[in-house]
Amino acid sequence: MAFEIKPFPEFSWSYSRHKTFASCKRSYYYTYYAGHNGWLRGSSEAQKHAYRLKKMQTLPLAVGQIVHDLLAKTIQDMYQNNRHTTAEALQQRARQLLNDIYKNSVQPGAWFERPSKNPIFQEMYYFKQLDKTLLSYYNGLLLPYFENFFASQTMQTITQQAVTFKQLEDFSYMKIDGTKVYVVLDLLYVDATQNWHITDWKTGKPSPEDREQLMLYAYYVHEHYQVPYANIQLHLEYLTTRSCETFTVNEKMLANIFYLFEQSTLHMKGLMADMIENEPLAEEDFDPQPTNGKCMRCNYLEICNAQDYFPSNLG
Ligand code: SF4
Repeated sequence: MAFEIKPFPEFSWSYSRHKTFASCKRSYYYTYYAGHNGWLRGSSEAQKHAYRLKKMQTLPLAVGQIVHDLLAKTIQDMYQNNRHTTAEALQQRARQLLNDIYKNSVQPGAWFERPSKNPIFQEMYYFKQLDKTLLSYYNGLLLPYFENFFASQTMQTITQQAVTFKQLEDFSYMKIDGTKVYVVLDLLYVDATQNWHITDWKTGKPSPEDREQLMLYAYYVHEHYQVPYANIQLHLEYLTTRSCETFTVNEKMLANIFYLFEQSTLHMKGLMADMIENEPLAEEDFDPQPTNGKCMRCNYLEICNAQDYFPSNLG
């Protein structure tokens, strides 16, 4: 089938899209609309620019992404290729990958040409340096992340019991009320007693939203694999503290996530000029919300006029 270039992206929903929308409407506009088609040679400079900015990563985001990718690869290597690794080797690899992003940031030519393959640090782009305290914080966490991964309840289970893997950091989607809803399950497996387990690795601090998001994943497993809720166990594995929260689907929380989805999509659609085409209103209709110092960590500082709202380091 020929690749069709559409002027606007398909409308979809995900928990992270909702969080961006709730956090700042202008940032939502830049992330989900302004850079659409920005990867195509024939697109406007404005589209390309927004797309490049979208592909930058803050240090915490880069660390989280790298750790997640390495954990998925470690499990895959163990079970598909019988190849085993150590926490020290993973720490080393994570450092190399962070270093690659640093090098890209110093010489951003590759990012400029192919931003999705060559991310750079947001902090380096805008502030010319990484926050040393934050860098040392994450540097100190890399080894514990991987040690805690190997010692985690999930790893104990999957290495000591016969389990069947179903999904490993896969992008999947389902339809709710006709809207495509994306979910990314870090790990989905079935144990010998036919109980299904969804594990979410967390590199940050616990938040009440963590459980809410897992309810959505449970709904996906329930619908997609026809699994009764009673047979689905949810695990939040906190890699900073080596702690695990295990719980089952809670009807009230499930109802909450559906309510959230409904309200969130309603408000997102309220900012469309054409709901069929998913054409957005003008940039100005997406209110900037420069609160709690979050602009400092925003990828779109240089194209958002809200940068006037805080003391700027931009040259
Ligand atoms: S700079 Fe601040 S107000 Fe502007 S898009 Fe980013 S977070 Fe929103």
